Amino acid sequence: MTLKENRVESTLLRRINERRLLEVIQQQGPSSRAMLTRVSGLTAPTVSKAVDSLLKRGLVEELEPVEQALGRPGRLVRMAAESAAVLGVVIDAQVCCVAAAGLDGKVTEEQTRRFATPDTYSALLDTIEEHCRCLLAGVSGTVHGIGVSVPGLVNERLEEIVFSPNLHLLDKRNPARDLEARLEVHCLLLQETDSLCLSERIYGDARGLHDFAMLDVTTGLGLGVMSGGQLLAGHSGMAGEVGHITVVPDGVRCGCGNRGCLETLATDSALVRLMAEQLGQPLDLEAATALLENRAADFQHELRTVTEYLAIAIAAVINIFNPTTLFVHGTLLAGSEERFARVLERVKQRTLTASLADCTIVATRSSKRQGAIAGIMHHLTNAWAPSIR
Ligand SMILES: [Zn+2]
Repeated sequence: MTLKENRVESTLLRRINERRLLEVIQQQGPSSRAMLTRVSGLTAPTVSKAVDSLLKRGLVEELEPVEQALGRPGRLVRMAAESAAVLGVVIDAQVCCVAAAGLDGKVTEEQTRRFATPDTYSALLDTIEEHCRCLLAGVSGTVHGIGVSVPGLVNERLEEIVFSPNLHLLDKRNPARDLEARLEVHCLLLQETDSLCLSERIYGDARGLHDFAMLDVTTGLGLGVMSGGQLLAGHSGMAGEVGHITVVPDGVRCGCGNRGCLETLATDSALVRLMAEQLGQPLDLEAATALLENRAADFQHELRTVTEYLAIAIAAVINIFNPTTLFVHGTLLAGSEERFARVLERVKQRTLTASLADCTIVATRSSKRQGAIAGIMHHLTNAWAPSIR
């Protein structure tokens, strides 16, 4: 091996070690060097060198340790929260939001701005840009990137949203690329359900899991699948669209143009629509939530219908993908213990017994806002070095 090849190899090795430490710090929170050595399986001198390099690059920070009874405590290392930041943008059918966070991924209400989704693409971009600029002005450290979470089919080869059934102003657009041109900060386009998967993996209950799935049943019905530690993408990144499986051939018109898609019957928006039809007046999610709290008995038929179809959706995912855990992200059914228990009862009828025995079904509280942050953090970690697992 030549001297040059040797150097390239040792640089790569160093970076792989640094990535490993970044992942450990992300998952464990503030850690001493001794703890990092134990968890990462690297040697103490390697950890020490890697931490120094990450400190120099501003990706981690040192904290004063809490006093310990015995011996001199080591300083703690954490993801940079004061000297570095990322932004997350969530574009959604009704309400969008922009949030700033340190590299530790902690999002707060003070650092979040929400607004009703504008009617046109250019107004949407203008509004996002304005909110991003305000947040960027208040951030003290280096901004490493902006994750832009979007609904719909994201084609990774074409680098655009080819089709967004519930927000057509995004069709054939790439808001991340357009924002990057305006803000001159690296922006990354993220499919919203994939981002929810990453959020659960980095910050939530899927830490350490390699095979799990995320079913988002809020506005549309989205599916993200982590298989063997990788997001299932398909040829162009568009895999997982179970929401557009036809379940009622002559059912109501779906945002995709077809009729009777699963997402027109198994989601929060499906339940809101059915309740509004019964009442004979328009309804939003907030009003529907209140009605279900106070007058659930008036909507038994609507609740039963959506419960049944959500169980079919959950069963389909478990039968096809055999996940160890299935996270369900939703408000009206998944957000209520009692109603979700009824869904799970129906899931038993619809799922192959052996596959169901393998799987835990959990209602998740992770948010698309956390997802946008997780997406950009995942990208930054990946860009640092390849994973060796
Ligand atoms: Zn459809």
